[in-house]
Amino acid sequence: MSSNGIQVCPVCRVSVTATGLVIFSAGKPGTRARLYERVCQYTQRPGCINQDAELVGDVTRADGFVRGEDIQLPQTTNPLGTIR
Ligand SMILES: [Zn+2]
Repeated sequence: MSSNGIQVCPVCRVSVTATGLVIFSAGKPGTRARLYERVCQYTQRPGCINQDAELVGDVTRADGFVRGEDIQLPQTTNPLGTIR
């Protein structure tokens, strides 16, 4: 645990700051909603810190897509490897 309020999801391996900004391992920072759409909804494993719907909130246009849209993902054995 760090003292600056940053949480690291042990499952998705992304950092969430005290203000709710999500730091991805690659690419621009985003929101918890974006993190959920891009990572956490696929992992769904115990220990993931981003499975709380109230914290996650709704994806906004700024996140790149809205909930319910089809997301085309390449078929791979490791979806986490496709994040840019
Ligand atoms: Zn997670």
